[in-house]
Amino acid sequence: MSEDPVVELRELVESLSEWLRYQRRLGRAGLRGEPAAAPTPAAAQATEKILTLEEIRAEMGQCRRCKLYPGAKNLVFGEGAAGARLIFIGEAPGAEEDLQGQPFVGRAGQLLNNMLNKLGLSREEVYITNVVKSRPPDNRDPQPDEIEACLPFLLKQIKAIRPLVIVTLGKIATQALLGIKEPLTKIRGQWQRYDHIRVMPTFHPSYLLRFPKERQKTWEDMQRVMEYLAEHED
Ligand code: URA
Repeated sequence: MSEDPVVELRELVESLSEWLRYQRRLGRAGLRGEPAAAPTPAAAQATEKILTLEEIRAEMGQCRRCKLYPGAKNLVFGEGAAGARLIFIGEAPGAEEDLQGQPFVGRAGQLLNNMLNKLGLSREEVYITNVVKSRPPDNRDPQPDEIEACLPFLLKQIKAIRPLVIVTLGKIATQALLGIKEPLTKIRGQWQRYDHIRVMPTFHPSYLLRFPKERQKTWEDMQRVMEYLAEHED
């Protein structure tokens, strides 16, 4: 504490404000004697212990939390660097990913690999995963209850890695992570935020296989990501 009463008062006010901010993050009320609010899911998440990727994988175990487990051969958790600055999030494993237990190793994965190569990135230095970790039958879109069951694990993975940028590939990943219903085309290529982390929504590689003319747009989105990463080199 300072000897100067003005400085002392300022320090007191700052610590009180900090304490109030902390209480709010926990979902607690302010000073007016309101009943304490139940912690919001975001607040609950903020106070949750940060697990390592290995611990998160162990927690998932032989997952039976949704109706996809009987049809899936392997749980596709994700792979790459535990300290990656960049995470790519797809929607769910396809047939090849289900067989190999790795994300993006089929045709869409080849396109993603090509793009990474052109950007001078390797799969080992980024992290690649999906919202849903088990393969939906016939490559259908994951359903809301399946997303709901799996999303907490993706959020824990993000918390473990704390990347600088997240690239969401396609509508499902974008809407699930950001908790929005807006069509991808409305926000594609525009910076979003998840928990103070920059998010770049772009097209899914499967979509780009069907509509090659759109590849240029994803390329431009990735240029913005690379610029941001370059500006924030440690
Ligand atoms: N599509 C996805 O969304 N994820 C994969 O891992 C493969 C294809």
